[in-house]
Amino acid sequence: MKYLFANWKMYLGVKESVALAKTIVAMTRKIQKNNLRLALFPTSLAFTDVVSVCKGSRVAVGGQNCAWTPAGAYTGAVSAQMFRDAGAAYMIVGHSERRHIFGERDSDVRKKIDACLSAGIIPIICIGETREERENGKRQYRLKKQLMSACQGLDVKDNEIIIAYEPVWAIGTGDACAPADTDDVHGWIAHELRSYTSAQVPILYGGSVDAENVHNYLALGTVHGLLVGTASTKKESLAAIFRAARV
Ligand code: PEP
Repeated sequence: MKYLFANWKMYLGVKESVALAKTIVAMTRKIQKNNLRLALFPTSLAFTDVVSVCKGSRVAVGGQNCAWTPAGAYTGAVSAQMFRDAGAAYMIVGHSERRHIFGERDSDVRKKIDACLSAGIIPIICIGETREERENGKRQYRLKKQLMSACQGLDVKDNEIIIAYEPVWAIGTGDACAPADTDDVHGWIAHELRSYTSAQVPILYGGSVDAENVHNYLALGTVHGLLVGTASTKKESLAAIFRAARV
């Protein structure tokens, strides 16, 4: 069983999100083989519509970002609890676009992880180094810091949190992390996680995954699934990824 998660970012509006969700649900109904755990991450505006489309199917729905408090005077924010009440199973937390464009710090990410766990949502905790950090031999330093902040003192059971290794330089660039390199980093992350929990923690890879390379990653024992951005926002490429991953 592997995870295949589609992060639609801010690419699709309500109509497009509903249409693509319908296509995916119809596709998964036709294919019997059940070797993937699927989830869609639409814009918040389309969230409840996409949940309705996916109801009764094997496709789950998650949020792209949440606030760290359950309710209150936080203009423009949506809480993990509100997402949960609306049907969210998962939440992307600490995506590099949130960290680098919106200035989220490790401490903010941790508060969101705690909020998700309190609300009964599985956080997908994104970690990753920049190109500069990688070139200067600081990859492990960056990942260690992010992991420590995210996981120290967490009390979780098997599969209650997910890590997504998403090197910043690989996101939306077409420069995917080579499978052998990914295998090494994932092995290292799995080892690091043992300092924080004995629970099973799936580790996903994300960064320029497409229909051509998807199989290389899913074939790796250290990669428990994929978080796909750009290529998941178009019917043709998402369908091709699903076929290549043998849904
Ligand atoms: C992402 O947004 O999580 C992602 C991995 O993007 P892309 O697939 O476009 O690199």
